[in-house]
Amino acid sequence: MKCGLVAADGALLHRETRPTPRDAGGRAVLDALLETVVELSQKATADGHRVRAIGVVVPGVIDAENGTVGAENLEWVRTPVFAELKAAIGEDIPIVLAHDVRAGGYAELRQGALAGTTNSMFLPLGTGIAAAMVVDGSLVSGDGYAGELGHSKFIYGDAAELCACGQWGCLETVASAAAIARRYSTRTGRTVDGAREVMELLAAGDPDAAQVWKDALTFLIDALVLYTTLVAPTRIAIGGGLIGAGETLLQPLREGVHERLTFQREPEIVAAVLGDEAGMLGAAQMAWDSVTADGEGQE
Ligand SMILES: [Zn+2]
Repeated sequence: MKCGLVAADGALLHRETRPTPRDAGGRAVLDALLETVVELSQKATADGHRVRAIGVVVPGVIDAENGTVGAENLEWVRTPVFAELKAAIGEDIPIVLAHDVRAGGYAELRQGALAGTTNSMFLPLGTGIAAAMVVDGSLVSGDGYAGELGHSKFIYGDAAELCACGQWGCLETVASAAAIARRYSTRTGRTVDGAREVMELLAAGDPDAAQVWKDALTFLIDALVLYTTLVAPTRIAIGGGLIGAGETLLQPLREGVHERLTFQREPEIVAAVLGDEAGMLGAAQMAWDSVTADGEGQE
């Protein structure tokens, strides 16, 4: 997990990365989160700052009403994250609990690739795929359920694979960074070190890498065209591990979307700029936004 101390003006005062003990189960992950929040608060105090608010972002579905989180890959089932944070930190410091991708989108909107837009999307292509949707100037959360473009069906028939979410043919099963590595290995019987290695093989002319890449692009273009038709973004910022491919990814997406659109407003398709710190920066901004403007302070 990525964490840090961020000042009111957005300055990053401290950053660190801590392991997420996924293998030890959901309780251990939650305990590691609580410990991190407490220790960082202590560090802030020791460094002469005052903690004004705490922003925590997590994957999965956040039930905003109850403060519980369901996240399959953390083994969280209606886990009372908000209540546990309150118990660890105390009642008097505001805590914002938000979705990691939406927080990343918020940071891109406030200070990154989506700055100045009122209708746009942040789409990180990493282990999974989820979208942060900016519609008419607001980040859409759908009570915690919105933005699951990665779990929309774009692949039909025999080609559809079972997704971790239980549906068949989700975008995530072909176009996430994890899927690209997995599909190349399945196709060739060779283990690869992530999507990055598949990209290197693609550059070297490997035909299997080319096919896996072409499949990912085909369905990503379908997804971007659908999103454009429904929500009319002016800009789409692609992030996550796969954006390491740069123009090799962006150029065919632009061309593919351009060819498909007829009447729709064509979005710019650009790279996200905040990298893997987007979620953390968004968490801090959301936390600061929750603090009433009553003078300076530092988180
Ligand atoms: Zn799915």
